[in-house]
Amino acid sequence: MMDYGLELWGNENFIIKDGKICINSGSKPALIDIVKTLRNDGYKGPLLLRFPHLIQKQIESIYGSFAKARKEFGYKGGFNAVYPLKVNQYPGFVKNLVRLGKSYNYGLEAGSKAELLLAMAYNNENAPITVNGFKDKELINIGFIAAEMGHNITLTIEGLNELEAIIEISKERFKPKPSIGLRVRLHSAGVGIWAKSGGINSKFGLTSTELIEAFNLLKENKLLEQFSMIHFHLGSQINEIHPLKKALNEAGNIYTELRKMGAKNLKAINLGGGLAVEYSQFKDEKSRHYTLREYANDVVFILKNIAEQKSDVEPDIFVESGRFIAASHAILIAPVLELFSQEYAESKLILKKQNPKLIDELYDLYQSIKPTNALEYLHDSIDHLESILTLFDLGYVDLKDRSNAEILTQLITKKAILLLKDKPNAADLRAIQNEVQERYLVNFSLFQSMPDFWGLAQNFPIMPLDKLDEKPTRSASIWDITCDSDGEISYSKDNPLLLHDVDIEKESYFLGFFLVGAYQEVLGMRHNLFTHPTEASVRVSDAGYELEDIIEAQSILDILEDLDYDIHEIMDILNERISASTLVDEKQKKHILGELYLFLNDNGYLKSIGL
Ligand SMILES: *Cc1c(COP(=O)(O)O)cnc(C)c1O
Repeated sequence: MMDYGLELWGNENFIIKDGKICINSGSKPALIDIVKTLRNDGYKGPLLLRFPHLIQKQIESIYGSFAKARKEFGYKGGFNAVYPLKVNQYPGFVKNLVRLGKSYNYGLEAGSKAELLLAMAYNNENAPITVNGFKDKELINIGFIAAEMGHNITLTIEGLNELEAIIEISKERFKPKPSIGLRVRLHSAGVGIWAKSGGINSKFGLTSTELIEAFNLLKENKLLEQFSMIHFHLGSQINEIHPLKKALNEAGNIYTELRKMGAKNLKAINLGGGLAVEYSQFKDEKSRHYTLREYANDVVFILKNIAEQKSDVEPDIFVESGRFIAASHAILIAPVLELFSQEYAESKLILKKQNPKLIDELYDLYQSIKPTNALEYLHDSIDHLESILTLFDLGYVDLKDRSNAEILTQLITKKAILLLKDKPNAADLRAIQNEVQERYLVNFSLFQSMPDFWGLAQNFPIMPLDKLDEKPTRSASIWDITCDSDGEISYSKDNPLLLHDVDIEKESYFLGFFLVGAYQEVLGMRHNLFTHPTEASVRVSDAGYELEDIIEAQSILDILEDLDYDIHEIMDILNERISASTLVDEKQKKHILGELYLFLNDNGYLKSIGL
């Protein structure tokens, strides 16, 4: 059975049953059945499914691991977590997260005015809010308003000018004040593709000299009692634990030093995010080399040690993990529209009475291919095809000959794969798969739904939703429906993606793209004006599952309006142009106008081909 590396990236969230991938919770519904329900209700195109129980699982596991570690080490400091909104601000995620995090007092982290206002509206009462990132006076003002509303909010200072603005504003405003955090610029560098967030050359944070200056400024302006937290963030998807340990040692010592200087209300160390997710389907490409348990134990152990060494109190621990919380909850599911080789059916051969010799030979190869010569014949056929293409360019063979050669080569490839499929020695099969790939055209936009694949070469697990009890034989490259050649997930010889040879005209075939819940949605681009796909939350229970909060992909009119087109103008122009046409009569005009309205009010993904 082919499991597409599920044991590496699946985190026991899925099981395979009767050849289908199923949710490993409650009634264990198959993803393909959930998709069919939605499609029967008329939702076509790609679908983004959210699973609240997977958000809950991640929240539980982070709080649970730290609770366990604190108990094990007798740690006296507290533990708090906030969810960084930038990772996914969509209501379908955030509202579920806030609801599920309530019993933990799970808070929110904001990095901009918009995110802060969102946090102020949705955050659970008394749960912490932290604010990071560059701040102007307005943003700081909003932070003060949050404190005045009763929110438990900490503004993290990224530079001295922000502190000066806080001092100024605090003189102007009412009594309740936000807590103040200082982001420290660590000597230890960040890691991974996102390394720029940590380290001495990082974009953010105060150097030791600036920390002393900040301390003095706070003291002079009677704000020292607001100073409660130091913060650092090493970057996202930290793949090794070692840099975090180094950073903790550094931050732990900064914490005790500042307290020694008189920062009596400094109680917390905020480690930022960075807890990694295992995205890899392949053992040799693993993207995380530690467990959550290790992470929690190391954090607690190191901070406890420093406090002991310096005879100080153990700090409260804050974490801002986002990717770890959000990634698993969303799955993009998209139908395969076409297999490139499908157009090369035997019935399309137009053999002549007298064919060029190479074509006759290709036909013989096709007729006489068998397991022992399959690889050799495939090579011969590719050579023949290349010769035919050259002859065509020189004018020696015609378009029918060329078409015949292309069809025969495809047929030989398919037959070779079929003949070798169940042979115990897979080397020949693998060699063929490495040489000729099948292109799967899939109804989604890579730019919209997996922008980090395009921008950062971040891989996401991919697998078909069914046929998992059948051996996949085609080495696949995946093409999205944008008109951009970058919209491709190409085949890798080292870590091949093998998919099934299906006839899309006879049966549907869906691919799941997993772990797309963090960062992908809001970073998604509307290249070619493909929008966020239709989404739904799936609540799985013992009795079955329920689909909630279905939001259909934006219509074409909506997206044009987002681009600041005047949609009434667009409609008027289309209307006028149809009215002015002399090619159709009045009745026909009415008909095509009606059709256009329908298209404009629908989303832009592909719908045809019986899917
Ligand atoms: C982005 C960010 C996070 C979240 O990082 P993840 O890798 O998603 O956990 C946390 N804190 C800060 C300050 C950030 O900028």
